Order: sequence, then C-alpha cells, then structure tokens
Amino acid sequence: MVKRWAIGMLIVLTLALGANAADWKTERQPRYIIFIMGDGLGVDELELARQYSLAVLGHDLFITETLAREGYCALMDTYSTNNLVTDSAAGASAWATGQKIKNGQVSVDPVSGDPLQTILEYYKEKHDFQTGLVSNDNITGASPAAFAAHAARWDTKEIARQYCDETHPDVILGGGRREFLAKNRYDDRDLVQDFVARQGYRYVTTADELARVRSGKVLGLFADDVLTWQIDRPPEGALEPMTSEMTEAALRILSADRPNGFFLFVEECLPDKAGHKSDAAATVCGILELDRTVATAYRFYRKHPQETLLIVTADHETGGLQWLMGYPWLDKVRAAERREGEKDPVARLASVHASIAKAVAGLQEKLTPEERARLRWRYRQFRFDANVAEALEKGRGTLGKLGEKWETVLTHLVARNTGAYYTTGQHNLAAVPLFAIGVGAERFSGHLDNAETGRILFRLAGRQDFRIVRTTKPARGSGISTTYDYSTSYDTNETEYDYASPSSTQYGQETYPEYSNYTKTRSRQKRSAKQSKSAEATDE
Ligand SMILES: [Zn+2]
Repeated sequence: MVKRWAIGMLIVLTLALGANAADWKTERQPRYIIFIMGDGLGVDELELARQYSLAVLGHDLFITETLAREGYCALMDTYSTNNLVTDSAAGASAWATGQKIKNGQVSVDPVSGDPLQTILEYYKEKHDFQTGLVSNDNITGASPAAFAAHAARWDTKEIARQYCDETHPDVILGGGRREFLAKNRYDDRDLVQDFVARQGYRYVTTADELARVRSGKVLGLFADDVLTWQIDRPPEGALEPMTSEMTEAALRILSADRPNGFFLFVEECLPDKAGHKSDAAATVCGILELDRTVATAYRFYRKHPQETLLIVTADHETGGLQWLMGYPWLDKVRAAERREGEKDPVARLASVHASIAKAVAGLQEKLTPEERARLRWRYRQFRFDANVAEALEKGRGTLGKLGEKWETVLTHLVARNTGAYYTTGQHNLAAVPLFAIGVGAERFSGHLDNAETGRILFRLAGRQDFRIVRTTKPARGSGISTTYDYSTSYDTNETEYDYASPSSTQYGQETYPEYSNYTKTRSRQKRSAKQSKSAEATDE
C-alpha cells in the first residue's frame, strides 16, 4: 500500500524481459538526452519524501506519480571494480563509460589508468551534439566529472582544467568556483578568464544573470563550494539558482540554436550530502527539489516526445535510511497525535527550517540559556524524550555515546519523532531505482547494472562495439572488498564524516539489525552495546 509504485516497478520489471531481445539495428536514436541523478537517492529516501509530500503538500511526488507510471522502471546494482560499495566517482563513471571503474577514479581504466571515452565525449565527437553539466554540488565533483574528465576524483583542479582545455561542455552550471580561480590553483591559471577569453564562454554568478542567458556557451559558478542546501536557503530567496532553475536554463540554452542534439547531465546532491549527516529534513528538501527538476525536464520531453530520452536514477544509497524504524515509540507518538488531532509524524519535518549542521554550529558541550531556547524553538513540534531533555539541560556529555555530539542528539530527536533512522554515515550496496521515459526508454527496465546502463546509452548513441552483457555479481574470493576501503576513497568530503548517526543498536530492543557492511560501524555497535543498555533504562 505504502509502496504502490514499487509494486508497479516489479510488474514493469517482469514485462520488460522480452524487450531486451529486440533488434538494435532498428532502434531509433534519441536526439535530446537528459540524465538526472539524485546522488545517494535510495528507495527509502524516495519513499520518505513521498510520504512527506502526501502528508504536507497533499500530493504525490512527480517522480512516483507521473514518471514511474508513464515510463519504465528498473533496479540497478552499483558496485565498483574494487568494492561492493561504490563511491560517486566509480558510480557515475560506470554510466559514463559503460565499464566498471575503481572507487576514487573518474572515467579511467581500472587497470591501465588510461582515459575511457565517455558518453558525453562520444556524442560530441560522433554527432556534434551540444553538451551540458549541471550540479548543485561542486561542478568539478566526481559525478559531473565522470562525464567530462579523466582523473582521480580528488584532483578537482585538473578536472576543471580538462573542462576548459579538452572537453569544454557548452553549459557548465554549479558550485565550486574556487577550483577555477588562480589564487587557489597550483598552475596559477585563472580558468574563468580562460573560459571567457579563449573559449568564448559567457560567465555568470547569480540566478538573475543566468535567467538572462538565452544561447551560446555559458559557465555559471554560483558558490565557492557546494550551493546552499535548500533547507538553509533564506526565506526571501537567494542569489544562487536552484537545481531546477539551472536545469531549465541549461535546456533553454542547449536547445536554442537548433542543435543536432544535446546530452545534459544534472546532479541534485542533497540526498547524499544530507544522508552522510543523517539529516532527514534536509534530505526531504533535496528530494523535493530533485522532483521539481525532473518535472522541468519532463516538460521538455513532452514538447519533444519523439526525440527525447529522460533518465532519472542514483549512483548509490547514502546513510542506510530505515524509514519507520522504531515503531513502538512512534506508535505512542501517533496515539498522542490522534488525541490532539495532529497530522502524520513525518509532517513534523515541515517545521524544521535548518539543517542539523546549521542548528548545531558553534554549540559547546553545555548550552547557554539562549542556545537551549533556540534549539527548543527550532524543534518545537517535536516531543523530547528523557535523553534529549537531559542533554539540553545538563550538556551533551551526560549521555555517553548519544551525547558525543550535538548532531547525534538532534539526529536521535528527529528519528524518534518521525521514524526516519539512519544506520550508517556512509554509502551502502542497495540496488537503486532508475526511471526512464522517451526514445529508447524501454531498454532501461528490469534488473540493470550501472555499467550495463552506460552500455545501453552508448548503443542508443549508435556505438556498435559495445555488447550489452549483464555484469554478473562478483564471485566470492574475487578480491572485491565487502567493507568500505578508506584508502581508495579520495574524497575528503566523504571520508571526514564521523558517523554522527546513532547506530540502530543504540535503541535497545526495538531493532538489532546487521544492516551495515562497514567495519567501523560494527565495532562502534559493539562499543556502544553496553551504553545502549543503560540508555534503554531511561528511555520512554
Ligand atoms: Zn557520498
């Protein structure tokens, strides 16, 4: 009942088995390809946002209501060559190149290190298509980079150089301005200047400037780092464009001069960023923006249904979200709400107007009366259990593991009140959803693999030397790690996460799952098992 679209997905999955045998020679080729990625978007995150949308906004998500019902759905495996749990670099590179890549690497051969041609480069070279990259993360981040660069993911300055000197996508919109400025670069080049003077780009830095661009090549860098999370944007609006606005602008610009066609990659990074921080409210805001972005792209598809292919998917799940875990407590909350005539607990997320990171910025172990009042006000629609109330009064150190960080206290508060529990601070290996509509969309159905998805993209682009073979699961003893290998993760943003999320075992008898493959989490669970027993005694 809750996941009707997921059942629909299974039906499509079954019906689609016959389609894969169809003849590629008669295949129509899409002329406009829009590939949208929700970084870290798992089925559970989508369902959380969907239940929020139903409870608060009164309607279903566009993705599940329209795209999933009109188009095709698949489940997609995401592992990389050296790890069952992929990072964003290997995940996006598999789509971009049609081959499995090592974690930490952007579209280079996992053995030789040689560059592998990407689908964006292929479209540009063979079909003279326009190309575009859009992200509300750093535009030199692993996901967009996988389509237009070849490097280690940490070498973002080299990635920016390759955009400028080698691949030059026609539209580049996102964050990460610092990577382009001479003062931050080891080669002292002002890449913004080079884009403008040598490559003929127009350079914009605000949403208003972007809205005025109609055609041509454009470089839009709207923040030094990641664009402001949707939940933290000032209510009066911001100078930065939203992901949906950047996507609308990219579609307008790329289609302005009657091109042969275009390939556009779009990333909404929040499910991943917020998933690493166990922040359900920020996740929901990000997915709602992803949903608006998809609706924007769908409107383009409806204008050109015979020429457009729209794909929406994820590189991996982030955070191990367990939606509606901890139900005994939630039942109590719900009973109280029914008495008070309140809405579903998930609706409580609507009252949160700051990310957890913003809410705890600068807080010391003990709160001042003003800080305590502000936190109580921020979460005024939440019920504070004994643990959280004690932490607010006496300081976070009073709660053992739970009180280790203020982030953990607030994560616990949100989880207890909404049922949105995160089980890890990292990625996991769960298969992710893929939705497709338009020319060739029927190819993207059933149970896919991320490299196979890339191979289908290449075949639809007319490249004949890619055989569409299922990449089978790696056999035991194949050398692929089943634990997260920190030595191969080059993304400082990702390795610095500190497992702020309380593991599920900390909630005593309510759950005791072995969800995580992360050794760190496991050892942490062992360490915290004793403390969870004492916490349980005071738990309501
Ligand atoms: Zn991540």
